[in-house]
Amino acid sequence: MIDGHALSPSSQFPLDNSLKTSVLGIPAFQIPDLGKPMSLSKPALDAIEALTPSQVDFLKALPKAELHAHLNGSIPLPVLQQLAAEYVPSEADSDSTVSDIQSGIKKLQDGVVFEGLHDFFILFPAIYALTSTKEALARATRAVLAGFLEPADGEEYPQATYLELRSTPRKTTAMTRLEYVEAVLDEVEKYRADQAAFIVSLDRRMSKEVADECVEAAITLKKSGRRVVGVDICGDPDVSSSCADDSTQCLRLSRWAIWNNLRATLWPPKPRD
Ligand SMILES: [Zn+2]
Repeated sequence: MIDGHALSPSSQFPLDNSLKTSVLGIPAFQIPDLGKPMSLSKPALDAIEALTPSQVDFLKALPKAELHAHLNGSIPLPVLQQLAAEYVPSEADSDSTVSDIQSGIKKLQDGVVFEGLHDFFILFPAIYALTSTKEALARATRAVLAGFLEPADGEEYPQATYLELRSTPRKTTAMTRLEYVEAVLDEVEKYRADQAAFIVSLDRRMSKEVADECVEAAITLKKSGRRVVGVDICGDPDVSSSCADDSTQCLRLSRWAIWNNLRATLWPPKPRD
């Protein structure tokens, strides 16, 4: 997976960058310092070590489809660092999140080192703050698209020939949820329809009103010919919330999307013991 789920901090291993990017499907831009050891899980290491150079070449040349790329989890580190350098604190940043934002931004400005998956997740409050305007969101989206769809320097093939980006629309002081999706689509649609599309994701912890607003935005944009291909009802299936407590609510949202020519994915709650 490219959204970070596959990265686990079990070992350190210095790898040739072209091998890392082609075999793991992890864009080069997600690897902070390409000359230094990075954290890879044991199964990934074993898989890489088992490959011959010709097998690596074969894998590089295979056309690949990435169907679940988290937008905010795939922003190239240098872009985040540029945004952090330009960041002006907003009065809208709530007191409870402001320290998380500031510590994340400081990490980015100082040069973050990823020792494990958690090191990345703690940056999310900062990443959200850094992409809270249409301009910043567009810049980040552009970089993510290029990172997947255009060959890295020295590489012949891109990471993916088709990409479905997914992201949860965020309302900020600078944009509505609908405008969030429009800003992302403006960048997605710079590529051909057989190269890139967008999935609106919903967190099951959302209130009914916000979840409805997200699905409505997806449907409205789909009907107007924009390249929204589906909705993804995600988040922890065991989290108790207005939505998770009521699986009918999640099913209702899925059906609503499907009736309007969108695809839908839904993670069902785990069965209780
Ligand atoms: Zn995911």
